[in-house]
Amino acid sequence: MYQSEHSHAVPERHCLPSIGDAHLRPSDVDTLLAALRKALTTPRAPLAMPQDTRQLTHAVEHMAGPTISEQGLGLESALSVFTSCLATQGVPTDHSGYLAYIGSSPTPSAVLMDGLLSATGMIGSGWMGGAGLIWAENQVLKWLADLAGMPESAGGCFVAGGTAGNFSALAAARQRFRQQSTGGKGIILTAASAHSSVASSAALLDLTIVDVACDEAGRMTAAAVASVLAQLAAQDTLTEVVAIVAVAGSTNSGQIDDLHGIGRIARQHGIWFHVDAAYGGAFLCVPAMQPRFAGIELANSVIVDPHKGLFAPYDCCALLYAEPAGALSAFTQDAEYLEHINESDEWNPMHYAFHLSRRARGVPLWFSLAVHGSGAYTQSLTQILALTDTLRARIAEHPELTLIEASSLSVILFKRRGWSHQQYLAWADQCLADKIAFVVPSKWQGETVIRLCIMNTHLEAERCEALLASLG
Ligand SMILES: *Cc1c(COP(=O)(O)O)cnc(C)c1O
Repeated sequence: MYQSEHSHAVPERHCLPSIGDAHLRPSDVDTLLAALRKALTTPRAPLAMPQDTRQLTHAVEHMAGPTISEQGLGLESALSVFTSCLATQGVPTDHSGYLAYIGSSPTPSAVLMDGLLSATGMIGSGWMGGAGLIWAENQVLKWLADLAGMPESAGGCFVAGGTAGNFSALAAARQRFRQQSTGGKGIILTAASAHSSVASSAALLDLTIVDVACDEAGRMTAAAVASVLAQLAAQDTLTEVVAIVAVAGSTNSGQIDDLHGIGRIARQHGIWFHVDAAYGGAFLCVPAMQPRFAGIELANSVIVDPHKGLFAPYDCCALLYAEPAGALSAFTQDAEYLEHINESDEWNPMHYAFHLSRRARGVPLWFSLAVHGSGAYTQSLTQILALTDTLRARIAEHPELTLIEASSLSVILFKRRGWSHQQYLAWADQCLADKIAFVVPSKWQGETVIRLCIMNTHLEAERCEALLASLG
């Protein structure tokens, strides 16, 4: 007998997901949401070293026994293990004292949207699976491409991080090279200032790195690139150059290569120009900083890590191509079950990088931008630069410290008079033990230095004073 559409309709979706209503009660959901609220609203605990594996294993076993078992621990116990044993171990990258690597301080709206994104059950690989989410991601990509002054055609996708972004951009460059090549394995031109992921991507792609010298400020210059190209021409290997990779905000010193000069040379030779703005790209939001990025618009590909300076949660890298269509043949996977996607005209992020299944990881940033407005980003990044300048000035006037003038953006490099490498290491350990800051020594032109990178707006003046005092 015919049944009306409504009388015995199968519910579109169970109110609680997959493993069954018996296993997760509505009150459990409330418990989890309360824990999330608490995590977002409780100030960070003072800095501390994490326990080692043995101590951590002991602590968890003491509290709950084996955590993976036939019956399961139940929500309360498993959550207690998480909140009291696990989430307390390690240094949060959004801690105001996190100055060691490049930190991250995601907005609560982005963090919460990250959870909501998973709850949509949608996948960001192809238009069919998550059209609305991909549309939102593309809005953010367009915003970034416009900030960089890239052409109208620019587009791409979000990948897990700068490493995946550099790898995919170079894979696309290699694809174009192979299509046009007259032979040779392929050469990448880059400088010592480039991120380690450039060398590792080149190795994976079987491309040879040819090193370009940096000037005293640690920048790759157009003159140095031209000189290497002339040498390659003399050796008859100029046609083997796949790409020139410049950095806009080097990880170690924050320096920006001569993007304009290098980009023009790349254009003249028809060589792919990749700009790694994983760290520096966020500062494109600050109008006063934009002139320093002049030439980025000449790039064939650009990466920016929103999980660094754009207040997005991990893991998130925007990968942009000036001409995305060119990347398709490098990444489109062939499979019977993918044919309908490969033949569709809509935007399918799976075609623009080395990945297939993917979360729409650009959506938390889109949401946060939509909620707060891009002006909030300009303001926060301006504030980060102001905090950096204040600390820089204190370091510059300190009698025992020597500022490395070349350090830039939100990175500060400096030396302490008369210290050995061992003393720098001991100082960094003591800083953490004293809960002042999480810092690590680095190198500048072969010498040990202190490197601070500010990536949050809540670095306290007292913390800076304690840090300076610890340096004697
Ligand atoms: C951080 C960084 C990378 C690598 O990014 P991940 O997201 O850590 O993979 C690449 N290039 C530069 C300049 C970076 O600062």
